Amino acid sequence: MRMYDLITKKKHGEELTDAEIREFINEYTAGNVPDYQVSALMMAIYFKGMCDRETSTLTMAMSTSGDTVDLSEFGTLTVDKHSTGGVGDKTTLVVAPIAASLGCRLAKMSGRGLGHTGGTVDKLESFPGFDTSLSPEKFFAQVREHGIAVIGQSGNFAPADKKLYALRDVTATVDSIPLITSSIMSKKLAAGSASIVLDVKCGSGAFMREPEDAETLATKMVEIGKRCGRNMAALITNMDIPLGFAIGNSLEVKEAYEVLSGKGPADLREVCIELATNMSSLSLGLAAEEAREKVLDAIESGKARAKFTEWIVAQGGDKTLAENPALLPEASIKHEVKARSAGYISKMNAEEIGVASVVLGAGRETKDSVIDHSAGIVLVKKLGDKVDLGDTLAVLHTNDAASVKSAEEKFLGALCVSENAPELGKLIYKIIR
Ligand code: URA
Repeated sequence: MRMYDLITKKKHGEELTDAEIREFINEYTAGNVPDYQVSALMMAIYFKGMCDRETSTLTMAMSTSGDTVDLSEFGTLTVDKHSTGGVGDKTTLVVAPIAASLGCRLAKMSGRGLGHTGGTVDKLESFPGFDTSLSPEKFFAQVREHGIAVIGQSGNFAPADKKLYALRDVTATVDSIPLITSSIMSKKLAAGSASIVLDVKCGSGAFMREPEDAETLATKMVEIGKRCGRNMAALITNMDIPLGFAIGNSLEVKEAYEVLSGKGPADLREVCIELATNMSSLSLGLAAEEAREKVLDAIESGKARAKFTEWIVAQGGDKTLAENPALLPEASIKHEVKARSAGYISKMNAEEIGVASVVLGAGRETKDSVIDHSAGIVLVKKLGDKVDLGDTLAVLHTNDAASVKSAEEKFLGALCVSENAPELGKLIYKIIR
């Protein structure tokens, strides 16, 4: 294989053969291809695309580029869930214990926050002592005993994606449908679950800004998963505005627990119920309506909430906090952001709000930044709400007094207040199975 020939072929919009794609991934993972040539190939793929066969071969080659997880001892009960990333997206904290309480097996690897989006691992670490790097033995033992374990991605897992993602991140080639498809699905396939439910976010806070692009991405990922023998479903959900009211790690844990207690924001509850319905329907082989009833019962009976507490304690969290996350430490500064004009909130830019929460300490400015788990934003008003001059729009939580002013300006810059009420978009655009 000559990398030069692959780059030239793709530059002219030609298809790469399966053998060429596999060799490229093997050689790149082994460190035998320089980043500058791979960058050129990524940019050629960005502009010329890949056909379904190429995307599928690339995904499978990446998924077997390192270790894979063998979950076969749990049969068809294993189910994974993946979100393409959003602001205020704490759905895993809700749907994982719901599904586990119904008999599904959640042996899950999750990510940390990236840019303006949060990550499940950071949220779980809001519980002092919660161990997100269990050994393989402890991870499997916990899934056997409790039906649920969530750890960070570690070791030699899909190393081809690790290298490619880092390169794409700095060469402006992240937002390519075949490259996102192969990146996400290579990790999901390597993680071994029999069923996979994807939450493809769409809007100002997501990689995919338009519903049509989100649908293309979701359809491709579902097709590849099915081709690899997995049960698949994808929801396309709105990420024009943050999900729920809370943004920031322990603030989101508290809100997730509210939903598990049968309360919480209506939008978050609706997305969680739909995700959990699809997860349990696929992995337990239930019709959608039956699955939905079981999900609602798991919440109303308190079964799912009890499973949440059992999970947090099993993984090292404190029992008192796991039973009552409202007791998690709060930030020392709570600053109310006031409306500077009256009208209706007609726009909320989720990405900018996510950035404001990072400024307060809820995310990482650099790879090595330390997160403040208590920092973040609690929205008081959301899209479509009427506001008067001086009304509180949100409360900023932080321990860093110096961050308040710039976070407040960033937050206010993310909102538009207009004379007329806006039309509210759909929350769940589509479900693809
Ligand atoms: N998330 C991933 O894991 N990969 C991408 O390419 C984009 C989002």
